[in-house]
Amino acid sequence: MKQVNPIPYGRQHITDDDILAVNDVLRSPFLTQGPNIAAFEAAFAAYIGATYAVAIANGTAALHLCTMALGVQPGTKVITTPITFSASANCVRYCGGEVYFADIDPETALLDPKAVRALLEAHPKGTFSGIIPVDFAGYPVDLPAFRQLADEFGLWLIEDACHAPGGSLTTADGKTYRCGDGSLADLAIFSFHPVKHIASGEGGMITTNDENLYKHLLRLRTHGITNKPDEWTELQPGEPERGGWYMQMQELGYNYRLTDMQAALGLSQLSRADQMLARRRQIAARYDEAFAGTAVKTIVPAASAGHAYHLYVIQVEDRKGLYDFLRTKQIFAQVHYIPVHTMPYYRQFGWNWGDFPHAEQYYARCLSLPMYPTLTDKEQQYVIDTVITMIK
Ligand SMILES: *Cc1c(COP(=O)(O)O)cnc(C)c1O
Repeated sequence: MKQVNPIPYGRQHITDDDILAVNDVLRSPFLTQGPNIAAFEAAFAAYIGATYAVAIANGTAALHLCTMALGVQPGTKVITTPITFSASANCVRYCGGEVYFADIDPETALLDPKAVRALLEAHPKGTFSGIIPVDFAGYPVDLPAFRQLADEFGLWLIEDACHAPGGSLTTADGKTYRCGDGSLADLAIFSFHPVKHIASGEGGMITTNDENLYKHLLRLRTHGITNKPDEWTELQPGEPERGGWYMQMQELGYNYRLTDMQAALGLSQLSRADQMLARRRQIAARYDEAFAGTAVKTIVPAASAGHAYHLYVIQVEDRKGLYDFLRTKQIFAQVHYIPVHTMPYYRQFGWNWGDFPHAEQYYARCLSLPMYPTLTDKEQQYVIDTVITMIK
């Protein structure tokens, strides 16, 4: 059992075609907002099954524009999961809103609709404005249940689908929803950080089926400016005639654009998305098989259909022992996530350890094993053998 190369928990895969695609942009007249942006948006919307897609500088900026577009402001209360990357919650704070958490389902580590219902019912109707469920690890969250809550309590939904491009949920009545397809959530967001399914360096995307939100997001991405005449206010008294140069800044937006180099890389990667997802599922199936009947527990049933496997999470009693042991063997497993409500920043709002027992018990035992398409069978076997040596 000898292994020399370090094995990370996630890693990008860049091909010669990817490099050529970026090179082409560097030789073209457009470094930002060139033809690759629109091409990437169209291809991504088609892949996800949504009507519109807006390319954004990164997933965090995408979340920020979503909370802006949905009107979050000081006093707006929004619910999310403690088991996510902190950006899922921070986007509410960027607009001055208040973050509420609800516990996870211990079987899946996903935000539990029952816990969210209990929170909603414990407050007068109208207290909350929205929910941000997360397709944690790539396993699709129960969006039909959240849509029902949203309709019942008058809320919007942002699906944080960063872990789940290509994932899908099939309900008991046989309907299939693709993660981020906009049929249940008002907006969905993705990230193209190198550890995610598709890498563009930094990068993000918002998908939606709502034309008004789509148009608003395009403006917010570029300073709140529009150059579309049908969106302009009428000529003002004293205003000179408008010409080809004219544009209007209508609200306070940001520069959250993606570059054309990044879009070219994302587009080139997207062409291999299905192939890379199939490989992730193959790796997951092999882990499932190796750990069946051992003390290594997984968070979702083996071979879960529709799972996009951004992460492969196991649960073990001696998590720190295993983490440290794997490092000595050059295997760099990771912990996803330290519950957001326990972060010092969120503790100042009154949240604390003890608030969400399922999330905290999950955190105490979770470890993400290496999961990326270029992980070789030999490397994976080394990971499996090393884990099993320690966890008998
Ligand atoms: C990666 C990630 C983000 C943020 O995306 P960036 O592109 O890194 O800003 C948000 N939410 C989740 C669940 C993520 O995994």
